[in-house]
Amino acid sequence: MQLEITTPDDWHVHFRDGDALQYTVPATAKTFGRAIVMPNLVPPITTVTQAEAYRQRILAHAQGANFGSSTHLFEPLMTLYLTEQMASSEIAAAAASPHVFACKLYPAGATTNSANGVRDPANIYPLLEAMEKLDLPLLVHGEVTEQEVDIFDREAVFIDRHLAPIAKNFPGLRIVFEHITTAAAVDFVKESSNRIGATLTPQHLMHNRNDLLVGGIRPHLYCLPILKAANDQRALQQAAISGNPRFFLGTDSAPHARLTKEAACGCAGCYSAPTAIELYAEIFEQLGALDKLEGFASFFGADFYRLPRNITRLRLQRTSNIVPERAPFVGEDGIVPLHAGKTISWQQS
Ligand SMILES: [Zn+2]
Repeated sequence: MQLEITTPDDWHVHFRDGDALQYTVPATAKTFGRAIVMPNLVPPITTVTQAEAYRQRILAHAQGANFGSSTHLFEPLMTLYLTEQMASSEIAAAAASPHVFACKLYPAGATTNSANGVRDPANIYPLLEAMEKLDLPLLVHGEVTEQEVDIFDREAVFIDRHLAPIAKNFPGLRIVFEHITTAAAVDFVKESSNRIGATLTPQHLMHNRNDLLVGGIRPHLYCLPILKAANDQRALQQAAISGNPRFFLGTDSAPHARLTKEAACGCAGCYSAPTAIELYAEIFEQLGALDKLEGFASFFGADFYRLPRNITRLRLQRTSNIVPERAPFVGEDGIVPLHAGKTISWQQS
């Protein structure tokens, strides 16, 4: 059996920088036409000039990326990292750039390389006003970081404390609630205006916190926001297959070398890029909704960002496919991809 869909896009990916790019960029470019590239490098990408230079470093590893029936050059869609020090003129420069497509709000300390993030979203309201006016989308890592808030409650608390007020104060601002993990987030998006969308990762669709913690801790399933309960997972699955165009594919593929995850204090992030579309196909098939995969993976994100849909095609074969235990990465230890060692039913051809 074969499945053919319009070439998908990944609306949330972490490529890292330097030596990592030779591994991370081809892993995404072999499948996806475009990807929203997250800006949380060290130091973060906070200017259009930095974003342009980062884009060139990415493109140097995307040459000849080949997918579907035709050869097509992968296109990285760059983003800026919002800080409380950023000037509104930088938002204007971003909106004018042909290569910058959004700005990302990281609450300070929320995830990998977010120390320079925003302490209080109210402090960047002038930037959000500029983004609303220039129609530049806001991408949000939606978790509060206050010590007293339980890690499993941080997304729901963020909605009440920050996201709902932002949506209300900036009714024209397009917002992507990234890598949502809870039924509360699904409900928030469904009940919002059509200017608010959300990305869904393969790990949050395939797993809940029992998979992370029961019978031993599995560091390669540790990501942020952390996996939630089974009822949350079911809500995410239903959103993904609902055909609602405001839920679309964003892997949040976030590489960390093996030993930085298999450690006493392991890093957060799942590296799904090498078999991302296969994992989504697996989930959609299990849910009896393969016919909904193309909209979710190839149409809805492009429509939300107001970009043309891809015109090339991607083919998947239904065949037994074992995800490798290890993939090459910076350093000798390699990297452990999401679903390593497990068998899935699809393979990109
Ligand atoms: Zn991310």
